[in-house]
Amino acid sequence: MSGALYLEPRVSPRVSSLLGSSGFLHTLADALGSPLGLVLPDQIGENVERFRSVYSKHHLSGRTFLAHKANRSSALLRRLVTTGAGVDVASLGELQHALGCGFAPALIMATGPKDPEFLWLAARTGVTVSLDSAVELDQLAALVRAQRLPRVRVLLRLSGFESAGVKMLTRRSRFGAPIRELDAVLKTVERYGDAVELTGVAYHLDTTSPAEKAVALEGCLVALEECRTRGLAPRAVDIGGGFGVNYLAHATQWEQYTTELANAVLGSRPPLTWGGHGYGLREDGGTLRGTLGLYPAYRPVAGERYLDDLLSRPALAFSGRKLATLLLEHLYDLYAEPGRALLDQCGLTLAKVVETRDTGAGPLWVRLAATADDIGLEEHGVLMDPVLLPRAPGVADHDTGPVAAHLFGSLCLESDLITRRIVFLPNRPAPGDLMAFVNTAAYCMDFHATHAQRQPVARKVAAWQDGDGEWRWCLDEQYWPITPPGGQQ
Ligand SMILES: *Cc1c(COP(=O)(O)O)cnc(C)c1O
Repeated sequence: MSGALYLEPRVSPRVSSLLGSSGFLHTLADALGSPLGLVLPDQIGENVERFRSVYSKHHLSGRTFLAHKANRSSALLRRLVTTGAGVDVASLGELQHALGCGFAPALIMATGPKDPEFLWLAARTGVTVSLDSAVELDQLAALVRAQRLPRVRVLLRLSGFESAGVKMLTRRSRFGAPIRELDAVLKTVERYGDAVELTGVAYHLDTTSPAEKAVALEGCLVALEECRTRGLAPRAVDIGGGFGVNYLAHATQWEQYTTELANAVLGSRPPLTWGGHGYGLREDGGTLRGTLGLYPAYRPVAGERYLDDLLSRPALAFSGRKLATLLLEHLYDLYAEPGRALLDQCGLTLAKVVETRDTGAGPLWVRLAATADDIGLEEHGVLMDPVLLPRAPGVADHDTGPVAAHLFGSLCLESDLITRRIVFLPNRPAPGDLMAFVNTAAYCMDFHATHAQRQPVARKVAAWQDGDGEWRWCLDEQYWPITPPGGQQ
């Protein structure tokens, strides 16, 4: 077939080596079932170092905290603790997990909305609490006083920032106290001086826009000044997460794909999706309307480069001086809470091909032993091709040339599509082959996993290379970062 539109994933050397060990991956999937999640603990170590290098470049002190919610893995957390990075927990279960993985309370940040139990364990163990609201501050102070606990370190999460110059408002958020209420909240903080110690201010914006984040960071710097004039002594700015990941290998493929998707919606080329789905785009009297609701999968400035870019931006309220310079001059600690970016290349999901069905002129139907919830890429709007791992590499049958395919999940549900788009594969898959969906560690591995239809959720294993470069593995919960890794050879 002609006109294949590929979206080849970007893969790190480590992931590339793993994909090259097809026999190893088939053995794992045969033993542990499909779908199967693999996490790569050593990769998170490398990712932490990348973030650290940006801190060094700008001479900044502080810490990165992994946003735990992006993946439930124990192996990743236990490997992370050895790097000196921290963890951001958003539930009682995540806090218990972090403590059990060896994180000292000083390396744990409790964020998000908090149940009384979560707040209690946070206060008891002395982790830092990133306050979501004034109400939460009341609850925490009451708890600390009633149980005569030591003062709890708190960050004040803020929202609703406004820029100084050109009018720009940061997006509305459910979380954090509106900056215009800062004065009232600080009065409360002062009133609770015996129960809480304000150590910093925070924001987290669910946006890809660096300009918006710069406005928020600048707003936090202004808020810190306000705190200091009142005699409070917070030192940290927590800039949350949202540094992003570059999922695709080639800019041109992404540009070509999105162009052709628009053409398909307009009807000027054959469809590219199941049922004419437009990913937010629609045709209206020959015109393209709507907005593309997809993750910008090709994103060269992501992860630590995004952080670098943000820190290098000018702060309008401070005569255009660089944000990093302002942080450095005040000796503020910079906290960051990347989820997606710290998990870049840290995991992949394997799914077995169960059936292939020819449907005449249309794309091949391929059914996988996995549900759309097991492979959350589509849910998160990340379009990226799977890597086909033939069961019997080299068999002539596999050298078919490109095919277009619909990838269906295993649920008895029309909407269980692994991806709504037609996927182009370099070769025709066969039952027994594996499809590897790479870069699923953040939000796309276990975030949506359910027991629908009593199907088991994916097992998870940790994989690493030994001194000879051989791939080793153990169940995720069996992984401890002791020598030898996994502690079981
Ligand atoms: C989800 C979340 C993060 C992580 O966001 P990413 O986009 O995965 O980097 C960080 N901080 C808070 C408070 C969050 O809720």
